[in-house]
Amino acid sequence: MAAAVTGGLAVVGGGISGVTCAEQLAAQFPTDNILLITASPLIKAVTNVRQVSRVLEEFDVTERCSSELEARYPNLRVVRSAVRELRSDQKRITTEDGGEYSYSKLCLCTGAKPRVIVTGNPYVLGIRDTDSAQDFQRRLCDTRRVLIVGNGGIAMELVYEIEGCEVIWAVKDKSIGNAYFDAGAAEFLISQLQADKAATPLTCKRTRYAVDALTGGKAVGAGSALGPDWHQGLNLQASKEFSRCVHVEAETEVKRIFLQEEFELLNMTALPSPKSSSSHSSNPAEWPVYVQLTNGKTYGCDFIVSATGVIPNIEPFICGNKFDLGGDGGFRVDEHMRTSLPDIYAAGDVCTASWKPSPLWQQMRLWTQARQMGWYAAKCIAADITGETIEMDFCFELFAHVTKFFNYKVILLGKYNGQGLGTDHELMLRCTRGVEYVKVVMQNGRMVGAVLIGETDLEETFENLILNQMDLSSYGESLLDPNIDIEDYFD
Ligand code: FAD
Repeated sequence: MAAAVTGGLAVVGGGISGVTCAEQLAAQFPTDNILLITASPLIKAVTNVRQVSRVLEEFDVTERCSSELEARYPNLRVVRSAVRELRSDQKRITTEDGGEYSYSKLCLCTGAKPRVIVTGNPYVLGIRDTDSAQDFQRRLCDTRRVLIVGNGGIAMELVYEIEGCEVIWAVKDKSIGNAYFDAGAAEFLISQLQADKAATPLTCKRTRYAVDALTGGKAVGAGSALGPDWHQGLNLQASKEFSRCVHVEAETEVKRIFLQEEFELLNMTALPSPKSSSSHSSNPAEWPVYVQLTNGKTYGCDFIVSATGVIPNIEPFICGNKFDLGGDGGFRVDEHMRTSLPDIYAAGDVCTASWKPSPLWQQMRLWTQARQMGWYAAKCIAADITGETIEMDFCFELFAHVTKFFNYKVILLGKYNGQGLGTDHELMLRCTRGVEYVKVVMQNGRMVGAVLIGETDLEETFENLILNQMDLSSYGESLLDPNIDIEDYFD
């Protein structure tokens, strides 16, 4: 079977970056045929876009039939088959079903896959797409104890949402949520796991911290990847009657995993339930799988969730093609989303942004960036075809992400964790336990990042202050004074 792509523009991947890119190309070149090749039977669609501020946006992601996309863009054709081979020298793609497609310009948007701690172990699960999430839900039904490894967003959402079984959470860092939070914010959030929300006394502290105080570990008082709120449609209630029951093992990693027979043969012993004084303790000798941690502790459990990051999905494309790859294994792309090979672009989780970034932006493999990159890649492809010049899109000026952790609204702006700033910055904090946690990162009197947890209503003002780089030295700590309406202040 052979098919030529009229117009020559092809996109691979039916996730958010690929679909956004293909839609944009179809709209910009209405008389050309655009091809979207995807391994997944359903494609992603962004709906209900809400502009929270100039840079921050929220949206829902739904799965749709590809025919709906084709109906909206008559010049867009969707091929549902995985790409098996890329011949970049001939500008040809072969799919698993034997299809062959030529292209003039190609955008690779094949996402990433979970980096699982071990492969081939039936008791170790990675969560990435609808299928794996449903598999997880099925297993959870009769689970007594699950061990979750990882410290990113997925692990955080799981430990908060799972009910009715014991959760042992193994994190390699000193504190939880290390990709997003410092120890102070982690401390603020972890109290939610113990979950006596109503009884939490409200106190307000406003403090300025030197970086060392935080890094020294002192608490400061305080198919396609799934979409936002991915766990909403899942029932994460295991068999037992009790609610959340989480035990955190910090600064540890998985050393070895044993199946039950092996464990018994080796005559090893496992720890009893960390919550053994409670009514839901279990016999330590009767688990299908055992995990030995690097801190010397061994726990039995029903299964393990490996939520330890992702690896860009590049395999089908690298054989015979000399792509430059980033340190994280993604296709390196320049400021025009171009890979190192002619006429091949990449966007979303599969790429590694390799341009000189704005001082306030960093790549993170998130929905918003997948959408922004897919859209911008299409713009770059169009500009390269028409010979127009194109400026880097404004969305790459400032890192901005809005999400929810432990039922709190969480907004991250700029260098929210002082990323790349070394010790040349200071932090200001305001924390009202159980209500809000506000952290700003200051450098030379200017705001360069912020973490806002809770309904702070500060996002727009802080986004502006970060973008305009106003000298705020004279305001000192009053910047976070809860009695000052900061919006009026900077009007
Ligand atoms: P994907 O969505 O992974 O799409 C890749 C596409 O490529 C798929 O359609 C796939 O079928 C296709 N494909 C792969 N290989 C081939 C091939 N060989 N041939 C053809 N097609 C192929 N981000 C957030 O911002 N907020 C969150 O709350 C959040 N939660 C998440 C929860 C989970 C469980 C996971 C796994 C991720 C989460 N993320 C979250 C990250 C976010 O989902 C990703 O950053 C985003 O989906 C990446 O989009 P993408 O289009 O680059 O890749």
